[in-house]
Amino acid sequence: MKIKNLALVLLAIAIPVLALLPLPDFWIVQLNYIGLYALVCLGLVLLTGVAGLTSFGQAAFVGIGAYTTAWLTLNTGMSPWLTLFVGLAITAASALIVGAITLRMSGHYLPLATIAWGLSLYYLMGNLAPLGKYDGLQGLKSLSVGSLDIGQGRLFFVLTWAILLAGAAALLNLLDSRPGRAIRSLKGASQMAEAMGINTFRYKVSIFLIAALLASIGGWLLAHFQLTVNPSAFGLKMGIEYLFMTVVGGVGYVWGAIVGAGLIKLLDDYLQVALPALIGTSGSYEVIVFGVAIVLVLKYLPDGLWSLVARYLPDAPRKVDWQNAGNLPSRSKPARGESVLKVEKIRKQFGGLIAVNDISFQIDAGQIVGLIGPNGAGKSTTFNLITGTLSKTRGHVLFRGQDISTLPARGIARQGMARTFQHVKMIPDMTVLENVAMGAYTRGHSGVIGSMLRINKSEEQRMMKEAQRQLERIGMGEHLHEQAGNLAMGPQRLMEIARALCSDPALLLLDEPAAGLRHKEKQDLIAVLRQLQSEGMSILLVEHDMDLVMDVCDHLVVMEFGTLLTQGTPEEIQASPAVRAAYLGTEH
Ligand code: ADP
Ligand code: MG
Repeated sequence: MKIKNLALVLLAIAIPVLALLPLPDFWIVQLNYIGLYALVCLGLVLLTGVAGLTSFGQAAFVGIGAYTTAWLTLNTGMSPWLTLFVGLAITAASALIVGAITLRMSGHYLPLATIAWGLSLYYLMGNLAPLGKYDGLQGLKSLSVGSLDIGQGRLFFVLTWAILLAGAAALLNLLDSRPGRAIRSLKGASQMAEAMGINTFRYKVSIFLIAALLASIGGWLLAHFQLTVNPSAFGLKMGIEYLFMTVVGGVGYVWGAIVGAGLIKLLDDYLQVALPALIGTSGSYEVIVFGVAIVLVLKYLPDGLWSLVARYLPDAPRKVDWQNAGNLPSRSKPARGESVLKVEKIRKQFGGLIAVNDISFQIDAGQIVGLIGPNGAGKSTTFNLITGTLSKTRGHVLFRGQDISTLPARGIARQGMARTFQHVKMIPDMTVLENVAMGAYTRGHSGVIGSMLRINKSEEQRMMKEAQRQLERIGMGEHLHEQAGNLAMGPQRLMEIARALCSDPALLLLDEPAAGLRHKEKQDLIAVLRQLQSEGMSILLVEHDMDLVMDVCDHLVVMEFGTLLTQGTPEEIQASPAVRAAYLGTEH
């Protein structure tokens, strides 16, 4: 059994057992708080740990959930089971608005924006008279089903931890799916993801929403557990504390959320009593200790406490359950000789530099066209103009007769153009198979909710089958379950080709696939290109290595200083005095 499933089962058994054991009430209360906090931290694992988006504002979403149910149950008499959904709706609306504004920000601007958001909501809660200003709202009722009170003690413990368990299971399912792989690309590989047809912004908004909803459920539970709400529980200090819990536990791990919430809650309580006794005066000394501790953790254990545990829990290799899976949908391919790509006078200006100067050429189906030229000639820029990674200053690109000049990279990928990168781009801590499956993104449909509920299983199997097929096609069948980051340069480049092939492309663009390869690896690459050629694949190859280019290409386009020097067959190019001059810097 996979570790993650085992852990879920263990937790599912532990919850009723703990509830039945004669634990002192004090410990049940502690466990209730830990469960509540862990629910918020779970969202931060997804947002900050997996996707690299730092939020100090989660406590504000806890506040929305808490205040919504408090105000509604006190003023309208609505059942708390209904107010939960009202709270979730208000949270979703505010998360979508905040997310749409802040998630386009990069670097430090996003965390700063979440601080601003956390602060403003805190002062809003503290200044609105209907919300009781800084005194908050008192006199809430605890949760009940019929006459059964489940708002306190052991039944509340079971409820909270059951929700937490369901949340953890849903997140683990999500991370191991089509949308999950897209989410895992957000930290450091979004350019690659966009080139695979993934709308990365949409996924940022989705996970911001999920994290906010988890926090909101936490707030709803908290309100009915404490029977009172006031702004101090939802301010910036608490927002920082949630982030701290998650980082200490292990921001990259679902289980880290629970470990971190548990440790900080218990430590916080202990220090609040122990430190004043030790020092002899009262004061919030624990805040100082936490400040020092967070610096030490960030320095010496940046992956958190759970990383120490995870080291001894290697995950079993993915169970191969897709032998009998069907095929993913495939696209119609252009017939041999049909025009695939027409580049018409494209130009790119960087300030005063014309990096690409009115370049035109075309590729017919089944051809391998090489784009060559000395360093700085403008090859990569041309490549990026065609694939939509850069915008053109002017000119047009026709792909299978359609004008794709204004499409973004992901739109062009969806049309059936697949690429690799001059510098390999991948998700290093995912297996080779899963990295390659990202190429099949546009051939699937499963969404976030379906993946959380695991109703995407048959599509997932088809994707894995396709990824395995493409890896075997290029001779990488041995490496399926290896971590991609552990591969040598040669296999990494081949993996990128397999990932591109996974999208079932009508045109494959390779940017310097031989760069950094050893002799044997280069031979493997040539064999793969030959095989693709025999299968009728159309390829645009940007390459520095002249031997390789002369060996595999049908047609060559030569660039120099941004302009098109000449084009023709490899023989014609080799015989051309102008090309020799460009490469050797002499007339002969
Ligand atoms: P090649 O791939 O043929 O080596 P490039 O397309 O990378 O060449 O670069 C062509 C020219 O454009 C070079 O002079 C390079 O310095 C310049 N260039 C490339 N990218 C940028 C950029 N983002 N901003 C400014 N100049 C650039
Ligand atoms: Mg280049």
